Amino acid sequence: MQKFQGVDYFNADQLLNEEEILVRNTVRQFVDDHVLPVIERHYRAGTFPADLIPKMAEVGLFGATLPARYGCAEMKNVAYGLAMQELERGDSAVRSFASVQSALVMYPIFAYGSDAQKDHWLPLLARGEKIGCFGLTEPDFGSNPGGMITRAERTQDGFLLNGAKMWITNGTVADVAVVWAKLDGVVHGFLVEKGTKGFSAPEMKGKHSLRASVTSELVFEDVHIPAENILPNGSGLRLPLSCLSQARYGIAWGAIGAAMACYDAALSYAQSRVQFTKPIAGYQLTQAKLVEMLTEITKAQLLCVQLGRLKDQGSIRFQQISMAKRNNVYQALRIAREARSILGANGILDEYPVMRHAANLESVITYEGTHEMHTLIVGEDITGLPAYT
Ligand SMILES: Cc1cc2nc3c(=O)[nH]c(=O)nc-3n(C[C@H](O)[C@H](O)[C@H](O)COP(=O)(O)OP(=O)(O)OC[C@H]3O[C@@H](n4cnc5c(N)ncnc54)[C@H](O)[C@@H]3O)c2cc1C
Repeated sequence: MQKFQGVDYFNADQLLNEEEILVRNTVRQFVDDHVLPVIERHYRAGTFPADLIPKMAEVGLFGATLPARYGCAEMKNVAYGLAMQELERGDSAVRSFASVQSALVMYPIFAYGSDAQKDHWLPLLARGEKIGCFGLTEPDFGSNPGGMITRAERTQDGFLLNGAKMWITNGTVADVAVVWAKLDGVVHGFLVEKGTKGFSAPEMKGKHSLRASVTSELVFEDVHIPAENILPNGSGLRLPLSCLSQARYGIAWGAIGAAMACYDAALSYAQSRVQFTKPIAGYQLTQAKLVEMLTEITKAQLLCVQLGRLKDQGSIRFQQISMAKRNNVYQALRIAREARSILGANGILDEYPVMRHAANLESVITYEGTHEMHTLIVGEDITGLPAYT
């Protein structure tokens, strides 16, 4: 296949500065060189390409927006978003790995951790020498995490943790789990280290989506947590939700990457596949599909650049992130399905990235708040009326 040239119908590159374009191009090259050659094999095998971890660390993809004193790249938010876009052009699993490590593990340690926790964990996580996971969802509490059953009780020298989490990205391979549990009825974050007695993290099998990502259960049976492993600076559901806002921001960008990969594959296929008298790109129905795809990609790009500028200004609202995640993932999924139809039977083959992206996006539209929950978040914001219960 021809090398990816980018998709930029509205000259949105004009909205980016040199550093942002440099980051985007660096990660684009990284994906071409290291992700695309191996991803189909890992997707089929149901394994994460772990060889990528040190290389991703080298490019500065872990905790990319956090301060340099922890070994992080201290990127601005648009640059970070563009990096997530390019990673997800490779595969949603690779972007998910970076999102979890950065937004769901390093961010809570940075925002709510003690100095000792930050000094210990952030450099190790930034270098990819340690891997983290984020345990919020439970078997019976997904969209309603506030109902969680996982509990911590105080002991003489720390806490005793009991409960279970499900659908946890990187759980089995993580060295440290950021686990959300109720202590005296209030949600707190705890750092649970791999190998702690009573803690296990079996991998969940049988996924048809995000096959190149490790997804796990976390089980806590009388797990003793040292007192210094609670995140000391804050409590309440607000904490995990603030981490989700960080991750959803990256997902809004990432979805553009998946959509661009599908559009790019569909366009070049349509230009070369001849049926009846000419290439299928020459038929009006195919053109309508391609125009719709490109229009939605363009709108998503413009939405995300402004979202990133708001984030850099510090004036972003979580409802705006919800709108962007909701829209961009939904449109990416539609684009993937349309691309699949343009490729005809070839669209179901792993010779093309389209079916893999379509299957992955079925997870992306569900995790980090389902499409419906983001509808309710924006709905409450504009009407003042919560409609969750
Ligand atoms: C591959 C993958 C990786 C994941 N990684 C992680 C992770 O690392 N950490 C983590 O904590 N979680 C993770 N998750 C879990 C994910 O965040 C949850 O799956 C998600 O929040 C939805 O929860 P649920 O699956 O229990 O669905 P449910 O909450 O049971 O929802 C089922 C359906 O009901 C709808 N629904 C629910 N409530 C309402 C309502 N009030 N009004 C209207 N519709 C409603 C939902 O929108 C959805 O369509 C992951 C999930 C997947 C698939």
